[in-house]
Amino acid sequence: MSTRTRTRTRARRLAVALGLLGLLCVPAHAEARDISRDTLAADDGWAAADGGTTGGAAADDAHVHTVTDRAGLVRALDGGSDTPKIIKIAGTIDANTDDDGDHLDCADYTTGGYSPKKYLAAYDPRTWGAAKPSGEQEEARQASAARQAERIELEVGSNTTIVGLGSSAVLKGASLQVKNADNVIVRNLELRDAYDCFPVWQPNTGGLGDWKSAYDTLWLSGATHVWVDHITASDQSHPDAEEPTHFARNYLRHDGLLDITGGSDLVTVSWSRFADHDKAMLIGNSDSATGDRGRLRVTLHHNEFTSVVQRAPRVRFGQVHVYNNRYVVPEGSEYRYSLGVSTESGVYAENNAFTTPSHVEAADLVKSWNGSALHQTGTLFNGYPVDLLAIYNSYNSGSERDLTADVGWTPALHGTVDSAARADREVARGAGAGRIR
Ligand code: CA
Repeated sequence: MSTRTRTRTRARRLAVALGLLGLLCVPAHAEARDISRDTLAADDGWAAADGGTTGGAAADDAHVHTVTDRAGLVRALDGGSDTPKIIKIAGTIDANTDDDGDHLDCADYTTGGYSPKKYLAAYDPRTWGAAKPSGEQEEARQASAARQAERIELEVGSNTTIVGLGSSAVLKGASLQVKNADNVIVRNLELRDAYDCFPVWQPNTGGLGDWKSAYDTLWLSGATHVWVDHITASDQSHPDAEEPTHFARNYLRHDGLLDITGGSDLVTVSWSRFADHDKAMLIGNSDSATGDRGRLRVTLHHNEFTSVVQRAPRVRFGQVHVYNNRYVVPEGSEYRYSLGVSTESGVYAENNAFTTPSHVEAADLVKSWNGSALHQTGTLFNGYPVDLLAIYNSYNSGSERDLTADVGWTPALHGTVDSAARADREVARGAGAGRIR
């Protein structure tokens, strides 16, 4: 045995002894362990590839911040700098606040004479037609929206870890944005209600027109090596289902919960809870974004999607491993589909569990727009095994071609893939903020 090996062995023994001592010394109601320098495990999904994901683990003491309000968070984010940094969020931070910490509501952002009533009158399709809104009210809406964006869009730079402290850290009203940055970790944090005060009318979306909101609670664009773990993201306190209908369309106040677009790559989303929302997770936002080819590689495991209407996820281009997730459609909630298979996507779905009310059928779980393949095995639907691919191919109306089982890749980076039944139980117990053991 070399001296070096001996030293290492001794050090390891010492670490084990100290660890045991630590275990013995932990009081019954111990504080949760410090997770702020955790890094992604070596095989834990796509974010483990090509050097892995360490976030701000290399931060020096001067770049470890505990923040309790928007101003502190903005200072710690440091304009999206790439200095290694750890940001611990304590308590609830409201992004809709001014520099003194006073809450701002939609009226505070409104400028230029914008009013929802006047906006609706100006762009009513019966009088305005199908042209894109323009003129006084649309300009005033844009100016007002810019004032809100300046407060709630928070840019996260490279080499950053953001963690919630304890079990009650909340960031509300914000859109956290990782744009063209590498090596970011977001964990143990509740992201709530990225509410858009100023939705825009898009008369040419989806044939009937639609309301479009600007903000995702977490948006990755051109982001690489991102690990999102034990977050809870929802519209809590402002459900879109309670918004009115204008121009015969739901006046949506929220965009995605976690959208992954713009050539993002190598992302792992684990043990997180996505709830009470319409469009949860978009991976790839355009059929014409061919720069996304070979990118948008994402692993989703042990996440819960509850009361999510659609996009859990919807995928273009990416090789996306979806395993051991739990899907719940409560009685009475709106539902369209869960797995969206779009252009050149390679969704590899394994051992996911779906629980739905009786009006939702297995054929509803998958929807394709110009998709060509879906790998799925081990799916559990209301407790019974189902073959989602066979069901999709026998029930789809014919507007879309059949899907093949060959998505052209096999996931290599992943932890143990449990049965759907076991994953369903463990995710119910363990997914979401405040639940890191
Ligand atoms: Ca979005």
